[in-house]
Amino acid sequence: MNCPRCSDPLRTYSFRGHQTNGCETCGFVGVAVNHESEPVEIESWQDALDRFKEA
Ligand SMILES: [Zn+2]
Repeated sequence: MNCPRCSDPLRTYSFRGHQTNGCETCGFVGVAVNHESEPVEIESWQDALDRFKEA
């Protein structure tokens, strides 16, 4: 799979148990398409607040 922006090969990252495709060249980040339907983990309000503080 290649980056839709710059066509460089995408790297696969693991993020909180989910796999995400990202491009180191241009910073594109996209969520991988899963073959199986997995429950979507909704970010908790506390996590959102923590992330906001760190930003
Ligand atoms: Zn790219």
